[in-house]
Amino acid sequence: MEGVLVTGTAQAGLDGECVRCLEPIHDEIEARFQELFVYTEHQTPHDEDDEVSTLEGDLVDLEPLLRDAVVLALPFQPLCEDDCPGLCIECGARLADDPDHTHEEPIDPRWAGLAELKQDPEAPE
Ligand SMILES: [Zn+2]
Ligand SMILES: [Zn+2]
Repeated sequence: MEGVLVTGTAQAGLDGECVRCLEPIHDEIEARFQELFVYTEHQTPHDEDDEVSTLEGDLVDLEPLLRDAVVLALPFQPLCEDDCPGLCIECGARLADDPDHTHEEPIDPRWAGLAELKQDPEAPE
């Protein structure tokens, strides 16, 4: 009666990077939206701020609506897979490619000096 209620679903391609391992992500997202576009003749002075969408003649401008809906549908922290293990903190390797990857236990810097004192057991006392 006072406008046109627009309801829809939009699909958009998503290109990004995994926040844990930086692997490129290509995905599809679906955004739903609903908005009342009021007839300009029903617009009250109070509506003139951008809070209210108005019909432009017989047309609706979906762009701002779509943009907001898509932004809300974007994952806050995109991941290449739900349990992406991320990168190795020692060498930066991608753990999903090499899950069994290990490193020698790093020497505690407080004991590092002792490594130099290691004695050859064969050596005479
Ligand atoms: Zn990842
Ligand atoms: Zn590593």
